[in-house]
Amino acid sequence: MTQHTPTAAGEPGRSQVEPLVVARGVKKYFPITRGLFRQQVGVVKAVDSVDIDIRPGETFALVGESGSGKTTLGKVLARLYEPTGGTILFDGQDITRLHEGELRRLRRQIQVVFQDPTSSLNPRRRVKEILEDPLVIHGFGDARQRAQRVQELLDLVELPREFLYRYPSHLSGGQKQRVGIARALALEPKFIVLDEPTSALDVSVQAKIVALLKRLQTQLGLTYLFITHDLSLVRNMADHVGVMYLGRLVEQGPARRIFERPEHPYTNALLSCIPTVDEEELALIPEKIPLTGETPSPARVPAGCPFHPRCPKVMDVCRHIPPSFVALDGNLRVSCHLHSEGDPGRGVPAAS
Ligand code: SF4
Repeated sequence: MTQHTPTAAGEPGRSQVEPLVVARGVKKYFPITRGLFRQQVGVVKAVDSVDIDIRPGETFALVGESGSGKTTLGKVLARLYEPTGGTILFDGQDITRLHEGELRRLRRQIQVVFQDPTSSLNPRRRVKEILEDPLVIHGFGDARQRAQRVQELLDLVELPREFLYRYPSHLSGGQKQRVGIARALALEPKFIVLDEPTSALDVSVQAKIVALLKRLQTQLGLTYLFITHDLSLVRNMADHVGVMYLGRLVEQGPARRIFERPEHPYTNALLSCIPTVDEEELALIPEKIPLTGETPSPARVPAGCPFHPRCPKVMDVCRHIPPSFVALDGNLRVSCHLHSEGDPGRGVPAAS
């Protein structure tokens, strides 16, 4: 088994490590249809022009309120959804558009752990069958080798072997999520999309699942995209953070830099209003910004900066002109007119 040291993202060396996942200008639009003939009357821009690099061995956390497009972006990067536009490279290979056979091969390398372990496990299959299914589908070994692999998987997620013959209904929430994680590991993937993997669990169980995910990452050299709205988990788990708002990334950078000095008013507001961030962390935020109002519908994204109707720092330019990304110190990229070129002491346009 490979021993692995996670990338210290945000340290000067991060940019020298070849990314495992590279997304450029990725879009996912869903049509809005109406009437008997399902005539298209609009479009929901669930993900719009996202650039992302995820380095091997790191945890890249995607954060934002519900409806921000985090889960859709995760599904696009895992190629559960075909992107509407842009390109995605995985391990140097263009995976933007693949036919069925190529997608099947990709499944060995990219897996997803879903939010709700109850609905993601087939209630009519025992644990043994749930873990064996991906091995059978992908032609892994003979029956004896598959049985051995299933036992290894249970050991990896610290479940006793007698659980093999249980149905999901006889497992607790945390045990079900362990089975979901074991199933994701079955084919030895490199990259796992963790879509709110602990949000359906009790707080005490959440901590154990996070500890398990961290151990597995170190032990197996895994790369994670960790999707969550819980910033206290991000603090614990992530090397790099991307903040999403209405389908766009508005700020991204090393987790420590973002927690200590958020630059985008939306990130600042998220950090200010999450009660699970501890007092010491809150004290580090220079100016607390309350997050007010509802997220607008992604079918009606405001002109200019999409955050402008809720932003306490809104300026006239924000209502008309979308801000572009600028690079700031500490390997941070932010999309906000407060940091645009020409403003005193601010950053330079970021290379894509
Ligand atoms: Fe606020 Fe303007 Fe920055 Fe948008 S661009 S976050 S409206 S200051």
